Amino acid sequence: MANDNFTQAALTLAGNFTVDAGGVGEAVGKAVGKAVGNLPGNLPGNLPGNLPDKKQKKPLLSIRNLKQYFPVKGHRNMFVKANDGITLEIYEGETLGLVGESGCGKSTFGRTLLQLYRQTHGRSLFYGRALDSIAPHYLRDTIKSLPHGKQNLLKLFDKSRAADAEVKAASGGDDKHKFRAMEEAEKSRKAAEDAFLDLVHIFGGLLLSPNEDEIIAAYLEHFNAAAHRNRINDDIAALELKKTESAEKSDSLEAALSEKRAALASAEEELKRKLGAIDALRGRMKGSEGFDELERLRDDGIDLARLDYNEMRLLRRDMQLIFQDPYSSLNPRLTVGQIVGEGPLAHNFFSGTGEALQEHVLGVMNNCGLAPYMIHRYPHQFSGGQRQRIGIARALAVGPKFIVCDEAVSALDVSIQSQILNLLSELKEKEKLTYLFISHDLSVIKYISDRIGVMYLGNIVELADSEELFRHQRHPYTEALLSAIPTTRAAKAKESIILEGDIPSPIKPPKGCKFHTRCRYVTDICREVTPELKETDPGHFTACHHCL
Ligand code: SF4
Repeated sequence: MANDNFTQAALTLAGNFTVDAGGVGEAVGKAVGKAVGNLPGNLPGNLPGNLPDKKQKKPLLSIRNLKQYFPVKGHRNMFVKANDGITLEIYEGETLGLVGESGCGKSTFGRTLLQLYRQTHGRSLFYGRALDSIAPHYLRDTIKSLPHGKQNLLKLFDKSRAADAEVKAASGGDDKHKFRAMEEAEKSRKAAEDAFLDLVHIFGGLLLSPNEDEIIAAYLEHFNAAAHRNRINDDIAALELKKTESAEKSDSLEAALSEKRAALASAEEELKRKLGAIDALRGRMKGSEGFDELERLRDDGIDLARLDYNEMRLLRRDMQLIFQDPYSSLNPRLTVGQIVGEGPLAHNFFSGTGEALQEHVLGVMNNCGLAPYMIHRYPHQFSGGQRQRIGIARALAVGPKFIVCDEAVSALDVSIQSQILNLLSELKEKEKLTYLFISHDLSVIKYISDRIGVMYLGNIVELADSEELFRHQRHPYTEALLSAIPTTRAAKAKESIILEGDIPSPIKPPKGCKFHTRCRYVTDICREVTPELKETDPGHFTACHHCL
């Protein structure tokens, strides 16, 4: 009976992530919509985190409900809500521009993604490496606590259902009561969905198996085999490094390497066998009720938010940051060669500052437009543009897949800005990079971005292809932001929308839509119910109850 309840809960939640138009999720959405009187905000639509368009674009990062709160000193239970529930995907090879007023949480978002701040809540899945190549601790903990995880999920699901019932009960009452019930229902639904995703990403359809012990045993064996294989890989990397850097040929080193390689081959075989055992369990469950629906949600992304310090350190070489200020972000006591070579040394690409490292540094410098003779110079001997090139070279030296460019050209004058933007575009093609490009400058964002996210007070309010966003804004804040771009055309200048009032405090943001205190289209629902970021046109997401 308990498993029946769990199956029902899991299938209902799985429906919230179903892509097809007739899915359970939409049915639930419609039911709630009906209960609250078909409010204008209840458009059926997909959420950005629910629709990984894996066939056409491969996500490199999938962020869901990311929150970053900072405690206010001297005030318990008071937080600066710098990011407050961000959901989006960043596709491999794209430049995602992030724009918004100063202080809206753009830089915090970039740094939180890199886990320079440990995120307060939500998941940030990274697909740049296989999950079992890291075998993180959180994976082992989730496997071991499967029974507890399922019980917790059931509790949260019941709470969410009770909140939905409140919405129905309140549908005949006054608007304020109705809207509050909707807001509570939304929070409870998100909590249940998060707990569900924690489990379903790992176990997929096997979550429905009544035989938990068997599942836990098979997963733990696979986890241990992966951890063992990874340890051998680390040993081999250390030995190979020693071999390339030692002047003389050492027989003992060669012998140790061949021994490790043989051990690696058998560890790989063992890993395959353990994976086969899990697949056999899946094969047994295939065709049972709900198995396929949950299996589709299995996800092998690495949740950055749950990695420990050392696990995250391994991924630092894949994820780098280019800072805003090229003056203060370089250590004045180090030469260019030392600055660029620091990362490769820290990640054990080289064991010492020998010729191999110097060659690597010179190669990276050349790619970034820095002449070889500059390798022994200090940062103060360079202009702003050249210093930013050094900052870019430092990020590139470890061969990253993803780079956060945090206002990377804001401190430069216009002609240098264009040089750096062109360099970043060239490097993106050459090194197959993915950028999150943060800026408050709309013209820079338009020039470099494939897609643009607009941020207001810690939330993404609109997300679309660059051209589409400039052609057709659907959120009132984006409309106001774009209308404020300075122009020499008198006719255009008249159309400027002046935003009234100040940006509210991120410590106590307004209820409902955070933009409602400054929006000219505000209605009652906006003051109480937080609009969700939904797909309003293909590939165009907007968080507004009354999209333009
Ligand atoms: S206040 Fe404005 S931006 Fe916010 S939901 Fe309402 S109409 Fe949309």
